[in-house]
Amino acid sequence: MCGIVGYIGGRPAYEILIKGLHRLEYRGYDSAGVALMGEGSELNVYKTRGKVSDLERFCSSKDISGTIGIAHTRWATHGEPNDVNAHPHVSRSGNIALVHNGTIENYHVLKEALEIEGCKFHSDTDTEVLVQLIEYVKEKNKCSLIDAVRGALKEVVGAYAIGVVDTTEPDTMICARKSSPLVIGIGENETFIASDATPIIEYTDQVVYLNDDEIAIIQRGQPLQIVDSDNLPAAIDIKTLRLSVSQLEKGGYPHFMLKEIFEQPRTIQDCIRGRVASSGDEVSLSGVTENKERFINANRIVIVACGTSWHAGLIGKRLLQEIARIPVEVEYASEFRYSNPILTSNDIVIAISQSGETADTLAAIQMAKKCGAFVYGICNVVGSSIARATDSGTYIHVGPEIGVASTKAFTGQVTVLAMLAMAVGTLKNTVSKETRFAVAKALRSLPSLIKQALRLNDRIEKLSSTYTYVHNFLYLGRGYNYPSALEGALKLKEISYIHAEGYPAAEMKHGPIALIDHELPTVVIAPDDEMHEKIISNIQQVKARGGSVIAIVTKGDTTIKEIADHVLEIPMVPECMSPVIVSIPLQLLAYHIAIKKGCNVDMPRNLAKSVTVE
Ligand code: GLU
Repeated sequence: MCGIVGYIGGRPAYEILIKGLHRLEYRGYDSAGVALMGEGSELNVYKTRGKVSDLERFCSSKDISGTIGIAHTRWATHGEPNDVNAHPHVSRSGNIALVHNGTIENYHVLKEALEIEGCKFHSDTDTEVLVQLIEYVKEKNKCSLIDAVRGALKEVVGAYAIGVVDTTEPDTMICARKSSPLVIGIGENETFIASDATPIIEYTDQVVYLNDDEIAIIQRGQPLQIVDSDNLPAAIDIKTLRLSVSQLEKGGYPHFMLKEIFEQPRTIQDCIRGRVASSGDEVSLSGVTENKERFINANRIVIVACGTSWHAGLIGKRLLQEIARIPVEVEYASEFRYSNPILTSNDIVIAISQSGETADTLAAIQMAKKCGAFVYGICNVVGSSIARATDSGTYIHVGPEIGVASTKAFTGQVTVLAMLAMAVGTLKNTVSKETRFAVAKALRSLPSLIKQALRLNDRIEKLSSTYTYVHNFLYLGRGYNYPSALEGALKLKEISYIHAEGYPAAEMKHGPIALIDHELPTVVIAPDDEMHEKIISNIQQVKARGGSVIAIVTKGDTTIKEIADHVLEIPMVPECMSPVIVSIPLQLLAYHIAIKKGCNVDMPRNLAKSVTVE
């Protein structure tokens, strides 16, 4: 995780860097720091524990001049979040400053070797080792900064995206990446670097995504140069960004999370645009059309993902099995990568990640590719590492998701999985005409159904006061909505710090029922579907033991209204698409409970959005 940003050009760097850090704060907010090179090539480094706004306060009385600089917002992996461990880290002589996103796995060995050479370390981070190593190589070989960076990186095992400046080469900034993202923005006589394109967009739409093992040499007034680890020139592939500044702002909402919840009618419209015909039953995805044979001949599909994307994957499993009749397994990418998986060239691996940078999912993709499997990506961030590492895929196109707890990306992922199942099912002829019509129709009506579900907002806000001081929650669902229960519980945990467990409703009697008493509220997802009768008995079981029940039901359900303590009515929707609609009240419930508790919903403690470390 961590966000890095850098600037070299003719303008004061500080403002650009701070604004960039605010944009990247979703990646981590343990500490923030900036290194600026002033007129006389002196290096001013300011860093502090806390958020970017704390850094701004800290810098208010400082010399913030300089037209070259690097900055960082941290999600700590090595060393506690304090001032000393904050980036940028500076070399022994004080000449070189470095910001880093990733982890240096062999930092211990490198640190010991450098200590023997007389190097003193001030922080507990893995990152400091890298800056000291660069200086050591530079002094030992009497070489330039670029040669020192290249030499040092050869010694490093791990993941990194780095930005480096050196007072002895005041018009140069070096950056490099391996397994952590880095984008270079090319403006008129100015260059930007950042972990994603959001800090760059208002200055230029021309960007280069650095590839693994590449090093970029950015020199004032010179064209960008990129070399590989053997110092051979690499191709510079300039892409034009399609992103607007307004997409990155709160647009009148108090939090990004609420804005993103309310954006869903539009984001789902964007997600299905051009893919679901405006009438009839046609659903087409170019990734499927271009790889027909792969999908027709697939023996099985393995979905790899983490967190919320894994929950979307569980819904995808049901969709793909039911509609396309392909056996599907869903794996946590972090487990899959170390499980010595059995994959063949007739298997399809679907990797799901909002950011497209999830380290474990990327590693799972590399493994799947080695085994010869066809790898299909479902990502949000265009041009992200996963989008580039996969053989083909589908973007969810829901726009930048900034709230750390995923909302619109989840509904976008489920929608893409439904379209994927439909496209493949149609190809394989495994789905009846009626089902095709019904699902296509449901996909088209999702935006208006979400709008109806969003009307629950006021009701949920009032209801949430009842649960502010609760310590535990149980979420139950069945079938397609068992993963919805997992996702609802995760949302609540993430932003309100209330412990919550999602469970398949019928499994409750095999354990969790023991927890039920008047202090444990249960959210039961009970739309009108095949499992309706069964889930009514589950509600009865909770009520019989003194538990309170908030039920999410289909409009007009009178039976559950009589037994549950509270009902939240959602519009009628075919079962396979119900997780999209059900997630609206679940997101709103988590949001309002967290707000009532006074939590920072956009930046929940210990979390970061783009998990680029193992
Ligand atoms: N390993 C570095 C640190 O702990 C960077 C962490 C990251 O990129 O998440 O400071």
